Amino acid sequence: MKYSFAPNVPVTLPVANSHENFPVRRIYCVGKNYADHIVEMGGNAKRDEPVFFTKSAQTIVKNYSKIPYPRNTTNLHYEVELVVAIGPNGIFGYSVGLDMTRRDVQKIAKSKGGPWSRAKNFPNSAVCSNITPSDQVKIQNAEIKLLKNNEIVQKSNISKLIWSINEIISYLKHDMDLKEGDLIYTGTPAGVGAVLPGDILLGQIDGLEEINVEFV
Ligand code: MN
Repeated sequence: MKYSFAPNVPVTLPVANSHENFPVRRIYCVGKNYADHIVEMGGNAKRDEPVFFTKSAQTIVKNYSKIPYPRNTTNLHYEVELVVAIGPNGIFGYSVGLDMTRRDVQKIAKSKGGPWSRAKNFPNSAVCSNITPSDQVKIQNAEIKLLKNNEIVQKSNISKLIWSINEIISYLKHDMDLKEGDLIYTGTPAGVGAVLPGDILLGQIDGLEEINVEFV
């Protein structure tokens, strides 16, 4: 095979407690999956169905990164989320993720009924910790938490997901082509808010390696 130019090197995430690296294929994201977050965004938790959107693998940011504040926004928001990593035999493992969002861009897109791509799928928008293999953790009742500059800003429990991990997986299998290498960001609880240069975000889920990044 002769390429016109050198192909991109696959994006990978380290696997915790091993020397393996997880090659990332696609990133699926679920919106509106915790009732308290739907309410804070002005929605109706009883009526609203979860929404799905995607990010490119190239938007991944690993632990301990310094992240440049993105262009074309004055309202960059954090959303801490459980990330499910899919392997050849189902769930491979879990990570702590930050679904970074240009909230001002999303607000304009929502008002015009336009796509969310520019609000969600921009450089450095998919922050993700190392992947903990699924056989090393019990995730169903794990606490999920985000600290901004050492202050807790988001706190909930994985048991509060409106659509469970298995329901999301079966939906995506039916609707898309969920395969090994895919990541699923499962949605964020209430407490989303703005990030500024100099802020440090620390995301934690019981039993998983934490995610720690700084915005510059
Ligand atoms: Mn999200």
